[in-house]
Amino acid sequence: MPEPCLPIHDLTPFTLQDFPGKIACIVWFSGCNMRCPYCHNPDVVRGKSGRIKTSDVLSFLADRRGLLDGVVLSGGEATLYPGIADFAQTVKSMGFAVKLDTNGTRPRILRHLLDKGLLDYVALDYKAPACKFKAVTGIQDRKSFDASLALLCGQSAVPVEIRTTVHTDLTDKADLAAIIADLEKHEFRGQYFIQNFRLPPGGTLGRMPQPARSLSPDTIARPQGFDIAFRGFTNMPRK
Ligand code: SF4
Repeated sequence: MPEPCLPIHDLTPFTLQDFPGKIACIVWFSGCNMRCPYCHNPDVVRGKSGRIKTSDVLSFLADRRGLLDGVVLSGGEATLYPGIADFAQTVKSMGFAVKLDTNGTRPRILRHLLDKGLLDYVALDYKAPACKFKAVTGIQDRKSFDASLALLCGQSAVPVEIRTTVHTDLTDKADLAAIIADLEKHEFRGQYFIQNFRLPPGGTLGRMPQPARSLSPDTIARPQGFDIAFRGFTNMPRK
């Protein structure tokens, strides 16, 4: 197989937090088709070409066999690049499990990766309900995201987590309720994470301020049997 050549922005050599149950590294792909104002990675999103050679990442992985057991494909948006399938195939053939972080806008690539058995875990960002999708992502049409959501909820071979980052200037309790209702409609059986926005030291893509209001997790209605977890809130909900 020819060696894939992809725009890789950066490599995090070690993480215990980003791939459940795995000792992993993170490969950050340059470029994203969304423009979420709260994005923590403006340099990655605006990046057009890579800063690290794909061959160097594969050499790194070859040296980490037996030390790491998973590789997270993140960004930016890794599925923008058709070569991601060959890359995932190469990484799998080296013995690593593969997790994909995605905004869900490339359902065809996602289906291909799933059909080929190249993914072991998927984290899908559910940015906002349809009425706010453009404001939160810069993308008007949510059809591609909806197709990815249906695809992931309609399969059980690969574990899926879905997550929403909340900046209360952009999304509120009613939006979260709409998202949860949509996930229930899709009979989503994985874990849903609600993540509190934290202002990064370097600022965000859309220069968002710290939100004026805070969201209290206790005010989010949690349907029975629906698995919701909260990340980054100081006032964690009662069980
Ligand atoms: S937060 Fe939005 S803009 Fe930033 S990488 Fe994710 S999808 Fe792209």
